[in-house]
Amino acid sequence: GERILEVQKVKKYFRVGRGENLRAVDNVSFHVHKGETFGLVGESGCGKSTIGRTIIRLYDATAGKVLFKGRDVHGQNRQQMQQFRREVQMIFQDPYASLNPRMTVEDIVAEGLDIHRLVGSKSERRKRVQELLEIVGLNPEHLSRYPHEFSGGQRQRIGIARALAVEPEFIIADEPISALDVSIQAQVINLMRRLQREKGLTYLFIAHDLSMVKHISDRVGVMYLGHLVEVAESEVLYADPLHPYTRALLSAIPIPDPHVEKKRERIILEGDVPSPITPPSGCRFRTRCPHAMTICAEAAPEWKEIKPNHWTACHLYNDSPSS
Ligand code: SF4
Ligand code: MG
Repeated sequence: GERILEVQKVKKYFRVGRGENLRAVDNVSFHVHKGETFGLVGESGCGKSTIGRTIIRLYDATAGKVLFKGRDVHGQNRQQMQQFRREVQMIFQDPYASLNPRMTVEDIVAEGLDIHRLVGSKSERRKRVQELLEIVGLNPEHLSRYPHEFSGGQRQRIGIARALAVEPEFIIADEPISALDVSIQAQVINLMRRLQREKGLTYLFIAHDLSMVKHISDRVGVMYLGHLVEVAESEVLYADPLHPYTRALLSAIPIPDPHVEKKRERIILEGDVPSPITPPSGCRFRTRCPHAMTICAEAAPEWKEIKPNHWTACHLYNDSPSS
């Protein structure tokens, strides 16, 4: 399919203290096809949110490029930037923290309409907000209520309505269901899938757990300590993960179907995630990898397409292992 987003060798470093850098995102490349959901997964601190924020330009990249519909998002003029701010929207993990408690639902949802001057009159504005509330499954009569009067799941719906108001093409959802009860998570996922079908939306869906992106992602990328370690089509990744880190993450997800032949052994990872200020040499996963070899400390594994559309960076898949 057509690539709506391309992330090319993006680095995002944060200066911490004396000349030290926190390498939150280090040389990450992937792309997202128009109309698909790309799930981006990893433990907290792996850099997944930083990538989302760099794409939407809440952060400037330290190096590398982000192309949206072929345009370099860090080199846009004011007019292009304004358009970009409509085309790409973000949904956040904590809908309560991202909704102003002193604003009514009407004003929250209409924020983008006001900024981009998309409605002429007050009655048109109200009508549009009511439509949006209905689209996300909320009572349109509740538009003069405040965020605290809603449940967590309803607040996430308000956040989605706010994002939809400006008719975006691309939505970055940063852990949109992580703070919700399990029973509510499926409802929000179903809403997002329906909206994707109806509006042709493209999603970058960020989560800390592979089970959360399983039912919504077409492709999945796995991050560890600022690196992308594996990207594959969703079914392929879940059935046949290549990278030892992905395998460990997947081993923690129970398989609901008792007829599944391949029983997964639970892989327990030893130790903690190292600091992104002083990451290990070579492969960043080597301090916790059950398969680590001598070369893993000496050289960073190359990012390679091992099978069609299935990428990973691990010395286990080198043609000529040198140790
Ligand atoms: Fe493990 Fe080495 Fe592969 Fe890294 S490169 S994941 S340490 S086997
Ligand atoms: Mg985060």
